Amino acid sequence: MTGTGTGVKVIIRCKQCGERFILKGRKEKGKIETGFRQCICSNQHDFEIEEQ
Ligand SMILES: [Zn+2]
Repeated sequence: MTGTGTGVKVIIRCKQCGERFILKGRKEKGKIETGFRQCICSNQHDFEIEEQ
């Protein structure tokens, strides 16, 4: 046991350039934490996030 919360796979798609990022995140209190900061096109806010 490492106590890292619930691991989830997250697909983040940039709505500005269409780039997709597949990341491993943690779900804590309903919020997904991936450490993702921004897309390669400098977009930081306009994303579609799909949890798997
Ligand atoms: Zn982008």
